[in-house]
Amino acid sequence: MLVSVFELFKIGIGPSSSHTTGPMRAARAFVAGLGPRLADVRQVRAVLLGSLAWTGHGHASDKAVLLGLAGEQPDGVDPDEADRLIEATRATGRLALMGTNEIAFDMARDLVFDRTGATPVHPNTIAFLALDADGQAVAVERWCSVGGGFISRENEVGREAAGSVEVPFPFRSGRDLLAMGAAGLSIADIVRANEEALRPRAEVDAHLDRVTEVMMACIDRGLAGEGCLPGGLKVRRRAAALAEKLRKDSTRNATMPTGTMDWVSIFAIAVNEENAAGGRVVTAPTNGAAGVVPSVLRYYRTMVPGCNDAGVHDFLLAATAIGGLFKMNASISGAEVGCQGEVGVASAMAAGGLAAAMGGSNEQVENAAEIGMEHHLGMTCDPVGGLVQIPCIERNAFGAVKAINAASLALRGDGQHHISLDQVIATMRQTGADMQSKYKETSQGGLAVNFTEC
Ligand code: SF4
Repeated sequence: MLVSVFELFKIGIGPSSSHTTGPMRAARAFVAGLGPRLADVRQVRAVLLGSLAWTGHGHASDKAVLLGLAGEQPDGVDPDEADRLIEATRATGRLALMGTNEIAFDMARDLVFDRTGATPVHPNTIAFLALDADGQAVAVERWCSVGGGFISRENEVGREAAGSVEVPFPFRSGRDLLAMGAAGLSIADIVRANEEALRPRAEVDAHLDRVTEVMMACIDRGLAGEGCLPGGLKVRRRAAALAEKLRKDSTRNATMPTGTMDWVSIFAIAVNEENAAGGRVVTAPTNGAAGVVPSVLRYYRTMVPGCNDAGVHDFLLAATAIGGLFKMNASISGAEVGCQGEVGVASAMAAGGLAAAMGGSNEQVENAAEIGMEHHLGMTCDPVGGLVQIPCIERNAFGAVKAINAASLALRGDGQHHISLDQVIATMRQTGADMQSKYKETSQGGLAVNFTEC
């Protein structure tokens, strides 16, 4: 089993990997899988169930499904073009499946949010139905969006990652990683060797560079964004104003000791405001938690003495190992385990990545990741209004700051510690299983029900 850097760091659009990227990919997979039968289809219906039904409107799941049916892919879709396609479908009642087979598409009839339908396998499920001109079923399929933009047919959930890919280091636990590294390989080396068993080194490096570029561009766009975020909560974008204040303070020689921490927070807020606005982001490991890794990576690139490009690659490769362990042994889906699986995992990934980039030993990297998660255990998912804004945007800032703190503590230690990464992953999984569903991306509990709009 391998969770590749190509899968964990996916380029897409906001606001949610499980509720936007996943549904888009599932819808596309459904229509693309019809092959020649696509020409017979005259009607398609998508029923969003479970958490997708509860928070799908705020997470733009309906828009995502439409785009997927039209054949769009998260990494290629232009956010502005996407909005135009949605508006055209609403106005004309027509949609070209895979961009070729134009059919009548009634948003109210063909895109249904069903809050009562069963989701026996995963809380993020979509039921698709394609009918021919006689009303006969051409295809009936159920797909699940299992977190971080990963998708699976409902009857294959849990088996989708158990492919037969041969890699030199098939690790499944932190313990495996440490044992494999005992021969002198770093965790980043181990992940690189696995990636290079699948594709040439140049392709791996190009992806790492592209991911870095998109993350940094996202921060920069976020730092320039103004106005209110979409969705009706009237949440004002504040990254630009906060950055301006910090810059002014520095020219007045009024720099506070919290300056670095403030910049890290602002970088994360910038990304998550872009995400909430439906802009281009990298899942890391999800869209809701997309600000943590870029923010800490920007900190490494601009504030850590001796940073270099090799360190950036090591950061992302080591973070992939950590995120992969959580995906394999627990979950990276807020709908399954709460926000500990999103911002918590992102913080653990960033902590391990930063420790690796700064030359930490494998034990220190493992320790940093463990600390990063330990202090997110039990964190619920309770997005106000079903939007990825409150508490998500600010929460990423805290995840980033905690990641830097975790890496720093680990790097000042010798790698020896009491709770292992594997133990904290198991604890996160168990805590998520015990968490009531109202705290798992349904907006039925927590801040989501105690927020009063003024
Ligand atoms: S609270 Fe956390 S898990 Fe839930 S939508 Fe926001 S970022 Fe995602």
